[in-house]
Amino acid sequence: VPIISYRGVSKRFEDVVAVDNLSLDIYPREFFALLGPSGCGKTTLMRLLAGFEEPSDGRVMLEGKDLAGVPPHRRPVNMMFQSYALFPHLSVKDNIAFGLRRDGLPRREVARRVDEMLTLVQLTAQARRKPHQLSGGQRQRVALARSLAKKPRVLLLDEPLGALDKRLRGETQFQLVNLQYKLGITFLVVTHDQDEAFALADRIAIMRDGRIEQVAPPARLYESPASRYVADFVGDVNLFDGTVREATGVTVVTHDASGLAFAAPPSGAVSGSHGCVAVRPEKLVMHLPHEAPDAPHNRIEGTVEDIAYGGDFTLFRVKTPTGIVEASVFNHRRTTEKAFTWDDPVVLTFDASDTVFL
Ligand code: ADP
Ligand code: MG
Repeated sequence: VPIISYRGVSKRFEDVVAVDNLSLDIYPREFFALLGPSGCGKTTLMRLLAGFEEPSDGRVMLEGKDLAGVPPHRRPVNMMFQSYALFPHLSVKDNIAFGLRRDGLPRREVARRVDEMLTLVQLTAQARRKPHQLSGGQRQRVALARSLAKKPRVLLLDEPLGALDKRLRGETQFQLVNLQYKLGITFLVVTHDQDEAFALADRIAIMRDGRIEQVAPPARLYESPASRYVADFVGDVNLFDGTVREATGVTVVTHDASGLAFAAPPSGAVSGSHGCVAVRPEKLVMHLPHEAPDAPHNRIEGTVEDIAYGGDFTLFRVKTPTGIVEASVFNHRRTTEKAFTWDDPVVLTFDASDTVFL
C-alpha cells in the first residue's frame, strides 16, 4: 500500500498550471526523488503534501486518508526548506526543540528528543552555538534534525544539498542515505540535479511541465528511458533521428542518405515508425578500422574531431555521416600504441540491446 498517493492532482496559480492532472504513488520506506528542470512543479507538488497549498483538482492522500482541509501542523509530514530557515537568534538546541515545545511536549521529552537528534546528526558538541557560528554543512544538519525531531512519517527535502559546496555535497549525500536507511522513514526529495537524484533515490519521477514523464529506479531511467525527454535529461546520449525499415532480417534506421543498420531491432523499433535511436556514449566501443569487427551492421564510421581527457573516461566527438557522435572510452591513455588521436578514422560498434528506439 502506498504511503503517499497523488490522484489526478492539478494546481493552478491564476494562469499558470504548476501541476497538471498528476497521479503518483510512493511506498513506505522509499527514498523517492522528484527530478526536473526549474519551474516544472516539483516544489508545488511537495507543498501540496505538506499542506501549504491545496489542490485545484484531485486528491492528495497519506496512508489512505484524503488530506483535504487538514492543516500543515496536523499532517505527519515535515519539510526541510531549501534555505534551511533556521532561527538566527536561537541556539542549535533551541532550534531543534522549537517545534516540540510549540506542540506542548513535556520538558523531559523535549530534552530527550533533542539529545537523540543531536547524536543522530553528530552535533552534540555544537548544541549551544548559534547558526552563524556553524559551517554550511552543520547548518544543514541542524535543519535536518529539526525536521526529524517530531518523528514525521514522511520527510520532505527541497533541494537539500543546493546550498552546499561540491565536496560537502558528496559527503552529505551519503549521510542522508544512511540516515534514511537507519530511520526507515519515507523521504521525498526535490532536485533539479540528476547526479543528486541518482545518488540518493530508490525511485525517481522525471517531471516536465507539471506532469510525470517516467517513474523508475535510477538504472532503469538510464538504461531504458521512456521518451526522448528522459533520455536527454538523464545523462549524455546520442540521438539518431530516422525511420525504421526492415529488409532481410536487418533493421535500418534511415535519415536522408545515411542510416544505422541493426542485426536485431533496438527495443521499441517498429517498421515504418519515425523517431530516434538513443545510445549512451559509453555503450559505443571505438576501434581503429583494421581492428574493427567486419559485420555490416551495428557500426558507425567516422573520424575523430575532438578529444576531452576526463581522467576515468575520455570523451571523443566523432564526425560521421549522421552527424557528430559522442563516444567515451574508459582509461584512455594518449601515450600508448592503442591511443586514438585527432583525425584518426575510427569505427564505433554497439550492441542493439544497448540502444532504444524512442
Ligand atoms: P520547481 O520547484 O520545479 O522549480 P515550482 O513548483 O516552484 O517549480 O513552480 C512551478 C510553476 O508554478 C512555476 O511556473 C512557478 O512560477 C509557478 N508558481 C509556483 N508557486 C506559485 C505561486 N505561489 N503563485 C504563482 N505561481 C506560482
Ligand atoms: Mg523548487
